[in-house]
Amino acid sequence: MIDLYDKLIFNLSSEGDAGISLPEIDVPEVEISDVIPPEFLRKSPPVMPSISEPDVMRHFVALSTKNHHIDKGFYPLGSCTMKYNPKINEDLARLSEFTAAHPLFPENAVQGTLSLLYELKELLCEIAGMDAVTLQPAAGAHGEFTALLMIRACHKKNKRNPEKIILPDSAHGTNPASVIMAGYKVVQIKSNDRGLVDIDQLSAHCNDDLAAFMLTNPNTLGLFESEIQKIAHLVHDAGGLLYMDGANLNALLGLTRPGDMGFDVVHFNMHKTFSTPHGGGGPGAGALGVKSSLEPFLPVPVVNRKNDRRGNHLFFLDYKRPDSIGKVHSFYGNVANLIRAYCYIRNLGPKGLKEVSQTAIVNAAYLREKLKDMFELPYNGDTMHEFVLSGSRQKTRGVKTLDIAKRILDFGIHAPTVYFPLIVPEALMIEPTETESKASLDNFIEVMKIIIDEIENDPEKVKSAPHNTPVSRLDEALAARELDICYNE
Ligand SMILES: *Cc1c(COP(=O)(O)O)cnc(C)c1O
Repeated sequence: MIDLYDKLIFNLSSEGDAGISLPEIDVPEVEISDVIPPEFLRKSPPVMPSISEPDVMRHFVALSTKNHHIDKGFYPLGSCTMKYNPKINEDLARLSEFTAAHPLFPENAVQGTLSLLYELKELLCEIAGMDAVTLQPAAGAHGEFTALLMIRACHKKNKRNPEKIILPDSAHGTNPASVIMAGYKVVQIKSNDRGLVDIDQLSAHCNDDLAAFMLTNPNTLGLFESEIQKIAHLVHDAGGLLYMDGANLNALLGLTRPGDMGFDVVHFNMHKTFSTPHGGGGPGAGALGVKSSLEPFLPVPVVNRKNDRRGNHLFFLDYKRPDSIGKVHSFYGNVANLIRAYCYIRNLGPKGLKEVSQTAIVNAAYLREKLKDMFELPYNGDTMHEFVLSGSRQKTRGVKTLDIAKRILDFGIHAPTVYFPLIVPEALMIEPTETESKASLDNFIEVMKIIIDEIENDPEKVKSAPHNTPVSRLDEALAARELDICYNE
């Protein structure tokens, strides 16, 4: 069947159709060339489709369902925290009081926005157990890079010049990339057989040349580093700083805090934990929380507060910070995302945030228990918000994890993260998040059962998937590098 609304909007155009109806003109008509000098008039009419309102709607709704998205179905993309984004956040971020403000407005004209940003900093400090926050970085990776520049500035202030950053082999790919960008050297240490930091290996590298240890906790296998306090002591005793990749705080909210575990700095992805929409590379916000030892080095401007003569709060952008690493973003960061995150936090409150993490953990544990017999579960610890399966058993039958991921798409579900973390062969990294119902999780389990059955009885069906998507197997590297956005009939 050819979908009528799959066509270009111009191909749907039919002379005389219109999506608007204007009243009869009741004023004298003027000759347009009497009003606009003829040399400025276009020579030919604009090319516009003639199309009725229902057809416009159907055309764009059809387009909007070509891609998978969180409003369409389950999205268990591990490490990406694809939770449902409440629409109230959108409504509030779109208030004209925010959207009509220009970044060059004087501070006294944007006191409301500045007070919201100030309060968001305080909320994030409380959530993470940190002393100060910058809202400037535009993404998690940008937060990592900013933090590494601050770490360098801090060591320099203390007349030290260490060159090494240690990372576990389960680290997110942005970690080594940020380290290199910041001009440091990466030292990678192997995880132990439980998937956690190998303390002996870590201590072997804890010496004078250690600038920082970057750690994700719970790590990318979903496992909590139970020896985190020992790790913090080792790193601090060597003069290093402890960095937490907190892109994903979804397992920790209201349960524990990076600051209490001994971390000196943590980045938070507003576009993961704090429910601002993401995917497709759109704008994010990767705020950074620090302990007071790093506060002087925060990028400018910092949103700050003072009292005016009558004792009222006056919010301002603090640029007078001599030890600051400078600017990392134009103006005040991605404010619209920060507003959404603020609304999300305020809407849930301390109790609600705690429930977010508890539910995220329970949902992941439920899926892990239901799926662990269908696949291999290489690290069988108590996982938190996510877990990693291996498709090695399926691979011996000629079906790769990539094939399974493609087949999942046929059921209207996004694929899990695959082939990451690198320490698990044929990895399938699953993070359901707290916003999925039991029915949605059970549906996913049923789909996985069907696919496992197909691998036994009809493996070609899985290997040639997807069958129901607008496009089938793309050359993923080529598709990213040479984006083909032409419509071919
Ligand atoms: C998503 C993620 C990042 C990177 O965040 P971006 O906003 O995509 O730059 C870093 N670390 C971990 C653990 C992540 O999940």
